[in-house]
Amino acid sequence: MARTSRELMSREVALAEVKAVYAELEQRPVERDCLRRTECCRFKLTGKTPYLTAGEALYAAAAIRAAGQSRIQEKKDGSCPLLHPQTGKCEIYEGRPFSCRTHFCAAAGGPYTRREVVDLIRRLEDVDVALGGSGGQTLPTAIKEALAEPIVGSRVHSKPMPRSRGRG
Ligand code: SF4
Repeated sequence: MARTSRELMSREVALAEVKAVYAELEQRPVERDCLRRTECCRFKLTGKTPYLTAGEALYAAAAIRAAGQSRIQEKKDGSCPLLHPQTGKCEIYEGRPFSCRTHFCAAAGGPYTRREVVDLIRRLEDVDVALGGSGGQTLPTAIKEALAEPIVGSRVHSKPMPRSRGRG
């Protein structure tokens, strides 16, 4: 019997690969400095919503769980559901998706060029295929789906943060 694509990579291996991609991105000699202004977290304002591959969504979901939460709620103002409503900071900054790390605003030095990170994008796409992903979904949809999956061992670290209080 043919194996399904989901059987090609365990979620533990997927999480480890996404973590390795993020770690490698940090090592890239590209001048960027995210100042955590959170402008890019306000999707209605920017007109751009990040798309997440399945592995990124899984990683973000693990960070959300590590922060003591099990679900996200979409916001009426169109900002990222992970933008803390009171602190105005990203609730999973250490576990934030690839596009949150690379599509910097002008103040941070502008976005990475595709050439600078294309190999990392391909690795994330490979994980997506191996997990049976569909090539990327909007951040809210991708994370909701990942949170609906059974919990797997998480090595994603995130500071616990009370839900009642909201990048960057
Ligand atoms: S995940 Fe965090 S950094 Fe990315 S858009 Fe949401 S709040 Fe901003």
